[in-house]
Amino acid sequence: MKLLSLKCPRCRGDLEGENNNRVFFCRNCRVGIDFSHSREKEFPLDFAAPAINRPESSRYFAFWLFQAAYPIHSEAQKKIPGRTVHFWVPAFFIKNTSYFGDIGWYYTNRGITPRMENCRKLKLFPADRGEKHAAIYPEIYATRLEAEASQAVAEIRILSTRLVWIPFYENKREFIDSILGWSYPFGALI
Ligand SMILES: [Zn+2]
Repeated sequence: MKLLSLKCPRCRGDLEGENNNRVFFCRNCRVGIDFSHSREKEFPLDFAAPAINRPESSRYFAFWLFQAAYPIHSEAQKKIPGRTVHFWVPAFFIKNTSYFGDIGWYYTNRGITPRMENCRKLKLFPADRGEKHAAIYPEIYATRLEAEASQAVAEIRILSTRLVWIPFYENKREFIDSILGWSYPFGALI
């Protein structure tokens, strides 16, 4: 296996990540770089402040945040003005969705908008899900959002893509996200 020395294209410092990751990061330059494309692709990186404070130690989990717009079609009104929505997709694979559920959907459906802050000195959970894999979810989630009102989604357009690190607390058995305060057993993720 060829090991690459991955350097930040901006500051030439070492990028943060593990061997099998798809996305690597430079905290200083606030960028995430996706290496799952044939060419490396750079995305802006933000750091969410916890909405819930707990005594446990925490680490960051990376998420893709897509802003996307779509027109809405309904039988009654033919075409009504479109919507612009923020779609959250984890930048890590969930091993056992029956434990974990679909956290990207929970965040998207609740329209969470965390306060951003400077980076904390926390470790990072590996980011093994690239942008290309994540980018199919805005349409899936939009369809789910509009299905409740019996509206169909067409022609979704992704307006911007960035990465956000969200702190998760951890105890001996589970991770607890600092935005909704929900807990997820280790078996779902590791
Ligand atoms: Zn850098």
